[in-house]
Amino acid sequence: MEYILQTQNLEKRYKNFKALNNLNMHIPKGSIYGLIGKNGAGKTTLIRVICGLQKPTSGTYSIYGISNTSKDINKARKRMGAIVEIPAIRLEATAKDNLKEQYKIVGLPNYDNLEELLKIVGLAKTGKKKAKNFSLGMKQRLGIAIALVGNPDFLILDEPINGLDPEGIIEIRELILRLNKERQITFLISSHYLDELSKIATEYGFIDKGKIIKEISKKELEKSSRKRIEIKVNNIKECALYLEQNNISYEVISDELINIYDSVNISELAIELSKRNCIINGFNEKEESLENYYINLIGGNSNV
Ligand code: ATP
Repeated sequence: MEYILQTQNLEKRYKNFKALNNLNMHIPKGSIYGLIGKNGAGKTTLIRVICGLQKPTSGTYSIYGISNTSKDINKARKRMGAIVEIPAIRLEATAKDNLKEQYKIVGLPNYDNLEELLKIVGLAKTGKKKAKNFSLGMKQRLGIAIALVGNPDFLILDEPINGLDPEGIIEIRELILRLNKERQITFLISSHYLDELSKIATEYGFIDKGKIIKEISKKELEKSSRKRIEIKVNNIKECALYLEQNNISYEVISDELINIYDSVNISELAIELSKRNCIINGFNEKEESLENYYINLIGGNSNV
């Protein structure tokens, strides 16, 4: 597997406090890597370290296989773009002028592709409107356009949908998916919004107390998250007996609720159970959500 970013025992200490504590993460090329963790888990610190805004206390990381200790690390950083905390936007300037500014900062010789960039993020028609009059979603998309100047193939977005309305969230989601698919851009996205993240991430990294406690791909997660059918019956004893006798995996939840973990045909089950004076009063197909998985992983209240 080719990794865009890898860290090895990364540590960032503030006095005696370890904001990053032997952190190991692996971001596969082409993935959308969702970094999930509660407040203070170390997400922003990690992103700041990777972006070169802070130095690790110990440990190393590599971007495109180039170690942070190498003199070429800045070259590797030129292939990535980032929005950390708030997008770097000049509010008094138009979208176009903001982008022009970034072209100069990056040191590009001309404004090639500028119009295309504005189009990609849906801001081609904002004309003379100043960024201060943009909605939050438009500002966020302008931030992404700025991060895209220089044609990076790795984008880091720290909490990109914070504070956005539902429409803004959908626009950012679609933009990320489009950039990933059409431009093969790899993403590292930190977010509190687990459900939202679950709609785009192809890989997950769960961070807690400065450590990545689990990395799992979407596919692996889907496999490991148990699907179940929750049924409500009037005769739990008979129902359990039937399931037992037929080798169907189940769990009694209460006097009237039972979870079935194998795939069963509900109509057939209802017929069989009715022969035993057991009636199904309701059923629900359920799948473990990302949030549940996360809560189980870190134990107790997720606080997200
Ligand atoms: P949030 O979602 O709230 O932004 P986070 O996961 O991004 O949380 P960080 O901002 O990385 O968390 O902070 C991790 C821990 O490091 C926190 O306990 C924070 O108080 C601490 N921390 C961050 N920056 C500093 C600093 N400059 N000096 C001391 N402690 C810091």
